[in-house]
Amino acid sequence: MKLNQLGEFGLIDRIRQQAGSGSGVVRGIGDDAAVLEVGAGEQLLTSTDLLIETCHFDFTWTRPEDLGHKAIAVNLSDIAAMGGTPRYLYLGLACPGDTEVDRIEGFLAGALRQTEAHGATLVGGDTCRSPGPWVIAVTVEGVVPQGEAVGRDGARPGDVVLVSGTLGDSALAFTMLQKGQRPSAFLAGRHHRPEARVELGRALAASGRVTAMIDVSDGLAADLGHILRASGTAGLLDLSSLPTSEDFRQSLQDNPGMADLALNGGEDYELLFTAADCDVPLLRKQAARVGLPVTVVGEIRVGAPHLLLRDGHGRETPCDLRGFDHFADSTEPADKT
Ligand code: ADP
Ligand code: MG
Repeated sequence: MKLNQLGEFGLIDRIRQQAGSGSGVVRGIGDDAAVLEVGAGEQLLTSTDLLIETCHFDFTWTRPEDLGHKAIAVNLSDIAAMGGTPRYLYLGLACPGDTEVDRIEGFLAGALRQTEAHGATLVGGDTCRSPGPWVIAVTVEGVVPQGEAVGRDGARPGDVVLVSGTLGDSALAFTMLQKGQRPSAFLAGRHHRPEARVELGRALAASGRVTAMIDVSDGLAADLGHILRASGTAGLLDLSSLPTSEDFRQSLQDNPGMADLALNGGEDYELLFTAADCDVPLLRKQAARVGLPVTVVGEIRVGAPHLLLRDGHGRETPCDLRGFDHFADSTEPADKT
């Protein structure tokens, strides 16, 4: 069946049935606005992200289920980066009228599975016909105990820079897909089904020892750049300490020259954060409790915002801090959120 046969309200009805209800939801899908509870002593976190077909995703190598997963996961990652817990989601969806309903159902299944996996609920959205590409706008609301949210602006000279998990997997998978190669199942999973580090973000924020935090969506260097600019400090990354996966290192043998993806690749959805050196053992312990390694990859220094890269010989060179900009060069292969 095509979407124009099912119709807007037919689709909303299906979404409503599948979304179900969840804790704190007084009224979900079906009214003019959702009515939701947030606990006493909690602050509300809100974030939104757009995904546009051919700009952020391509159905030639993306399954609808994976797209649904990713559309939700990248939003949950923003809540994780503040140290919060995701609660409520909104889905704006524009598709061409001749879209197969099966494709939308697949997308929805992936999106709802990811939503439920984190104890959140889909409570609203909007549905339109698109004259061309799919456009997906997801908004997430989360909560954080009063005063525990971690911003980008708290890094202090003398802090160390840490990152969770491994870097470059997603970007390497994407590069290989574009070249018609088959990435390993692990690398492909890292690209198509990123995991938002929600538990880790919450644990780090609750420790009270993290001074600044961001999720790695644009790439390690660019996202550290966001912290440096917001905090008004300089920083350094030690290239020889960047954590990479076994699969990443193996695949580099067939794709030489791609090592840079650990630094600039993007879409890792790991957490990048800063803390005093003396707090590193405690933070490592917190991360181990949720099953994730964290690695010290650099340091914060006194100075106007700029980033230095230290190579294996101890040489320090400046790094361009511009990062990814959707409007900077429209010929750039876009796959960033
Ligand atoms: P309105 O005319 O007030 O915008 P709609 O008919 O667009 O109302 O939506 C009816 C209900 O369905 C609302 O609760 C809205 O949040 C929800 N809704 C619409 N589209 C979606 C969607 N794609 N995903 C989840 N909920 C949706
Ligand atoms: Mg509407």
